[in-house]
Amino acid sequence: MALVLPEFDLARFNTLASPARARAYMSVASREELVEALQFAREHSLPILPLGGGSNIVLREDFPGLVVHIKMRGIELVHETQEHLWVRAQAGENWHEFVLYCLAMGWYGLENLSLIPGSVGAAPIQNIGAYGVELDSVFAELTALEVASRLAVTFDGDGCGFGYRDSVFKQRLKDQYIICDVTFKLNKTAHLRIDYPALAERLAAIPRDALTAEQVSAAVCAIRREKLPDPETIPNAGSFFKNPVVPANHFEALRSRYPDIVGYPQADGKVKLAAAWLIDRAGWKGVSEGNVAVHSQQALVLTNPGRAYGEELLFLAERIRASVRQTYDVELEIEPRIYP
Ligand SMILES: Cc1cc2nc3c(=O)[nH]c(=O)nc-3n(C[C@H](O)[C@H](O)[C@H](O)COP(=O)(O)OP(=O)(O)OC[C@H]3O[C@@H](n4cnc5c(N)ncnc54)[C@H](O)[C@@H]3O)c2cc1C
Repeated sequence: MALVLPEFDLARFNTLASPARARAYMSVASREELVEALQFAREHSLPILPLGGGSNIVLREDFPGLVVHIKMRGIELVHETQEHLWVRAQAGENWHEFVLYCLAMGWYGLENLSLIPGSVGAAPIQNIGAYGVELDSVFAELTALEVASRLAVTFDGDGCGFGYRDSVFKQRLKDQYIICDVTFKLNKTAHLRIDYPALAERLAAIPRDALTAEQVSAAVCAIRREKLPDPETIPNAGSFFKNPVVPANHFEALRSRYPDIVGYPQADGKVKLAAAWLIDRAGWKGVSEGNVAVHSQQALVLTNPGRAYGEELLFLAERIRASVRQTYDVELEIEPRIYP
């Protein structure tokens, strides 16, 4: 059985570097060890926190339960046709290393999702997305263990209920499954997606017919390194808020007051607003309070330079939410999962 470590310091295992402790911690490298961890939690009536790279969690205070660190590794090609490949990665694989591995193998489709921190197993939880691509566009299926029965269940795309930074695992099935592996449907020839403005601009000098998936990946990495603080030097959890979606008439009313407001029309007629714009214009960009701050180059990113407990960051987040609500009558939703 995997070792159970009591009173475990999680500071190194969350990108906000909050010094929270877990009552107990287990690192699991196989499905059998995962089952043992779930049994242990049940026997001791401990709540569970499945942990990947810790890049999308806020540890408000100490976690009074069992942290199960998902460390299963392995990548395999499970099926192929003339055009497509089905590639299965275990949940504990590092996401960006997996993307680079696929690129090196000539398996295409993940390039826009380069350099997103975290693990493969957490990627479907919020349907990760960046630079015009979301995980659901390359998703085939996943296997997860049901926490209650410890039995394996397969979910296809419909079963996952993917949405914008959302899935059934954040909603109806929250806390009920632990993802063990994810299978992706990738392409043998690259179908490059460079419609996202910053990416198109960065790649403008390369003729379209000469452009490679490796160049797209490198461009995405370069833009990300310029725009986002590296959690190793400035602790952060990426975007702290989701981009809010409002009815078209609300957007029009805002636009008459703020002609340069940023909005993206959605298929259902609503408009997605840029949360960064709202926060910036409400005067929060670069604001620093105690141990925490709003990043000076990207208002959507809250940082924790003083390595405080998540509670301090959440206090700042609530003040930003109240200010955005008061200024624009728009509700901001926090993106990372808050524990406990
Ligand atoms: C600098 C920075 C940039 C980022 N940029 C982006 C971006 O461009 N796009 C984007 O979508 N996200 C982005 N993120 C957020 C984050 O990288 C993703 O959400 C990522 O998928 C989280 O992976 P993780 O392994 O670190 O998850 P964790 O933080 O460890 O966990 C997140 C949630 O998933 C659960 N979980 C983790 N693994 C499993 C599992 N195997 N089974 C069940 N539940 C599990 C956890 O319990 C928790 O609730 C960024 C974060 C940072 C710090």
